[in-house]
Amino acid sequence: MNTTPKDTVDLRDLTYSELERYVVEDLGERRFRTDQLFSWLHGQAVTDLDLMTNVAKELRQRLGRETRLTTLQTVEVVDSKDGSAKLAFRTADGHLVESVLMPEERKISVCLSTQVGCAMGCAFCATAGLGLTRSLTAGEIVDQLYRIRAWLQDRGDDRRISNIVYMGMGEPLANLRQTRRSLEIIMHPLGANLSSRRITVSTAGVVPGIERMATWDFQVNLAISLNATTQQVRERLMPITRRYSLDRLFTALRAFPLEKRRRITFEYVLIAGVNDSDEDAARLPRLVAGVPCKFNIIPVNPVDGSDFAPPAPDRVEAFCAPIRRAGYTVITRNSRGADISAACGQLAGRLKSPNLTDE
Ligand code: SAH
Repeated sequence: MNTTPKDTVDLRDLTYSELERYVVEDLGERRFRTDQLFSWLHGQAVTDLDLMTNVAKELRQRLGRETRLTTLQTVEVVDSKDGSAKLAFRTADGHLVESVLMPEERKISVCLSTQVGCAMGCAFCATAGLGLTRSLTAGEIVDQLYRIRAWLQDRGDDRRISNIVYMGMGEPLANLRQTRRSLEIIMHPLGANLSSRRITVSTAGVVPGIERMATWDFQVNLAISLNATTQQVRERLMPITRRYSLDRLFTALRAFPLEKRRRITFEYVLIAGVNDSDEDAARLPRLVAGVPCKFNIIPVNPVDGSDFAPPAPDRVEAFCAPIRRAGYTVITRNSRGADISAACGQLAGRLKSPNLTDE
């Protein structure tokens, strides 16, 4: 058990350059120690300093006294019939977060959480019902990935995790500092070494966050949960849009310095009788004009306490057709893991075996 005080540096939170500064300036160690430490922390994802065998014992002991190494504890894994799985983790201070693993033929995509709960309040999403408890640290965000990797390994599954989506619990852009650090860590060659092309950050439309991301010296894929074509309907579904209107959102998106061959993904949760009309479908291409983009249409998943229903399949098709005709790629994503409450909008931080929360 780590007993160092809370304000000490958490080694797993540090990006490579932050770790380098810490190693050189605070510890007075040689620069090459950074490579060693970063590889252990993020390449091997070890949680025990004593396993860092090429790091001098005195340094390990000093790190043990002066730093923390926060990890998540895997408390539950629920398998879905469709091959996906939901992992529930407990943070050191006792909160639950969830990640979802979605195997496709040769690759595995992983959906990570950035907060315990969420403050966005979207009417169709189960995480909204929790409210926001706190944001996750960068170390907690990346540790979800490491726990999943370890779990796959334990099962003898040698498939690689090839794609990461920041679409779990919480709003990444309301926790932008930690989200950015986690991205830098995950992309680092000595860490998980994932290409920025294979990472997607999804936002409900927190405009200042998008504006900040526009200034970053690296880019990942950006997904916007649009979910309506008018300010009025969007306000009803997503209270955040009262603060950051559709107008402001699209001003920020049009100004976004999108790299070549990248497109913004618009996610659109389709709800019968609410946002699935022919008029909505006709408005969508006009709304996004000038933004290189594609669409993910997601028939709404049932969530406790809301009576939103997905449109019939032919209605979903009828909605997509004019958008395709306007020249856009449209994917209808039937969410994975609905049988285990792991699908989009269903992460509610509840365990299947609630007694596991008692220690
Ligand atoms: N807060 C971020 C990250 C969460 S992503 C965001 O809003 O983008 C979660 C995605 O699932 C969002 O695109 C959201 O619109 C979608 N979603 C939420 N509840 C859903 C539900 N009940 N059915 C289908 N999709 C849902």
